[in-house]
Amino acid sequence: MASTRLTRQKQEFKRFLEVNRESEMTVAEMAEKLKENGSDMGIATVYRAVRRLEKEGLLVKTVSSGAGSTARYRYSSGDENIRSIHRVFCLSCGKAMDLSYNFTDKLEKSVSEVTGYSLCDHQIMFYGLCPDCK
Ligand SMILES: [Zn+2]
Repeated sequence: MASTRLTRQKQEFKRFLEVNRESEMTVAEMAEKLKENGSDMGIATVYRAVRRLEKEGLLVKTVSSGAGSTARYRYSSGDENIRSIHRVFCLSCGKAMDLSYNFTDKLEKSVSEVTGYSLCDHQIMFYGLCPDCK
Protein backbone atom coordinates (compact mmCIF):
# COMPACT_ATOMS: atom_id res chain seq x y z
CA MET A 1 0.00 0.00 0.00
CA ALA A 2 1.27 3.42 -0.96
CA SER A 3 0.71 4.97 2.46
CA THR A 4 2.63 2.21 4.21
CA ARG A 5 5.50 2.70 1.84
CA LEU A 6 5.41 6.44 2.47
CA THR A 7 5.52 5.97 6.23
CA ARG A 8 8.44 3.60 5.90
CA GLN A 9 10.30 6.05 3.67
CA LYS A 10 9.67 8.87 6.13
CA GLN A 11 11.17 6.85 8.97
CA GLU A 12 13.99 5.68 6.76
CA PHE A 13 14.80 9.27 5.79
CA LYS A 14 14.79 10.55 9.38
CA ARG A 15 17.07 7.72 10.46
CA PHE A 16 19.36 8.52 7.57
CA LEU A 17 19.54 12.17 8.64
CA GLU A 18 20.24 11.25 12.24
CA VAL A 19 23.10 8.97 11.17
CA ASN A 20 24.50 11.71 8.93
CA ARG A 21 23.85 14.62 11.27
CA GLU A 22 27.47 15.74 11.05
CA SER A 23 27.15 16.29 7.31
CA GLU A 24 25.59 19.02 5.27
CA MET A 25 24.24 17.61 2.06
CA THR A 26 22.49 18.69 -1.08
CA VAL A 27 19.31 16.89 -2.10
CA ALA A 28 21.27 15.08 -4.82
CA GLU A 29 23.89 13.90 -2.35
CA MET A 30 21.20 12.64 0.01
CA ALA A 31 19.52 10.72 -2.80
CA GLU A 32 22.84 9.20 -3.84
CA LYS A 33 23.78 8.14 -0.32
CA LEU A 34 20.33 6.68 0.29
CA LYS A 35 20.65 4.68 -2.89
CA GLU A 36 24.04 3.40 -1.75
CA ASN A 37 22.35 2.32 1.47
CA GLY A 38 19.85 0.30 -0.54
CA SER A 39 16.96 2.72 -0.27
CA ASP A 40 14.31 2.92 -2.99
CA MET A 41 13.77 6.66 -2.42
CA GLY A 42 14.22 8.52 -5.69
CA ILE A 43 15.44 12.09 -5.87
CA ALA A 44 11.89 13.47 -6.24
CA THR A 45 10.86 11.69 -3.05
CA VAL A 46 13.95 12.94 -1.24
CA TYR A 47 13.24 16.45 -2.47
CA ARG A 48 9.68 16.34 -1.14
CA ALA A 49 10.87 14.94 2.18
CA VAL A 50 13.46 17.70 2.47
CA ARG A 51 10.85 20.38 1.81
CA ARG A 52 8.54 18.91 4.43
CA LEU A 53 11.25 18.56 7.09
CA GLU A 54 12.45 22.07 6.36
CA LYS A 55 8.95 23.37 7.11
CA GLU A 56 8.94 21.35 10.33
CA GLY A 57 12.28 22.90 11.26
CA LEU A 58 14.13 19.59 11.33
CA LEU A 59 16.25 20.47 8.35
CA VAL A 60 18.01 23.80 8.16
CA LYS A 61 19.14 25.19 4.86
CA THR A 62 22.73 26.37 4.91
CA VAL A 63 24.03 28.61 2.21
CA SER A 64 26.94 27.18 0.33
CA SER A 65 29.63 29.35 -1.16
CA GLY A 66 30.64 29.72 -4.77
CA ALA A 67 28.87 30.35 -8.02
CA GLY A 68 25.70 28.45 -8.83
CA SER A 69 25.61 27.34 -5.25
CA THR A 70 23.27 24.52 -4.43
CA ALA A 71 21.47 24.58 -1.14
CA ARG A 72 22.79 22.25 1.51
CA TYR A 73 20.82 21.04 4.45
CA ARG A 74 21.75 19.99 7.89
CA TYR A 75 19.68 18.12 10.40
CA SER A 76 18.50 19.98 13.44
CA SER A 77 16.88 18.32 16.42
CA GLY A 78 14.43 21.04 17.34
CA ASP A 79 15.98 22.69 20.39
CA GLU A 80 18.98 23.61 18.30
CA ASN A 81 16.88 26.27 16.59
CA ILE A 82 17.11 28.70 19.45
CA ARG A 83 20.86 28.30 19.85
CA SER A 84 23.31 30.44 17.99
CA ILE A 85 25.16 28.43 15.42
CA HIS A 86 28.88 28.50 14.82
CA ARG A 87 30.17 25.84 12.54
CA VAL A 88 33.10 24.88 10.39
CA PHE A 89 32.31 23.19 7.12
CA CYS A 90 34.45 21.12 4.72
CA LEU A 91 33.92 22.06 1.06
CA SER A 92 35.25 18.70 -0.08
CA CYS A 93 33.40 16.02 1.92
CA GLY A 94 30.64 18.11 3.50
CA LYS A 95 31.60 17.25 7.05
CA ALA A 96 30.57 19.99 9.46
CA MET A 97 31.52 20.57 13.06
CA ASP A 98 29.98 22.73 15.72
CA LEU A 99 32.41 25.12 17.34
CA SER A 100 32.19 25.09 21.08
CA TYR A 101 34.60 28.00 21.24
CA ASN A 102 32.50 31.06 21.89
CA PHE A 103 33.99 34.21 20.44
CA THR A 104 30.77 35.90 19.50
CA ASP A 105 29.74 37.96 22.52
CA LYS A 106 32.15 40.70 21.48
CA LEU A 107 31.25 40.33 17.82
CA GLU A 108 27.54 40.60 18.55
CA LYS A 109 28.16 43.68 20.64
CA SER A 110 30.10 45.46 17.89
CA VAL A 111 27.58 44.46 15.18
CA SER A 112 24.87 45.86 17.39
CA GLU A 113 26.83 49.08 17.90
CA VAL A 114 27.58 49.51 14.19
CA THR A 115 24.11 48.72 12.90
CA GLY A 116 21.92 49.87 15.76
CA TYR A 117 20.08 46.54 15.60
CA SER A 118 19.18 44.73 18.73
CA LEU A 119 20.31 41.21 17.91
CA CYS A 120 18.64 38.04 19.05
CA ASP A 121 20.39 35.40 16.98
CA HIS A 122 23.08 34.77 14.42
CA GLN A 123 24.71 32.08 12.33
CA ILE A 124 28.37 31.93 11.51
CA MET A 125 29.86 29.44 9.09
CA PHE A 126 33.52 28.88 8.27
CA TYR A 127 34.34 27.11 5.00
CA GLY A 128 37.47 25.16 4.25
CA LEU A 129 38.93 21.67 4.09
CA CYS A 130 38.82 19.24 6.99
CA PRO A 131 41.95 17.39 8.19
CA ASP A 132 41.00 14.31 6.11
CA CYS A 133 40.59 16.30 2.88
CA LYS A 134 43.30 18.91 2.97
ZN1 LIG B 1 36.58 16.87 4.36
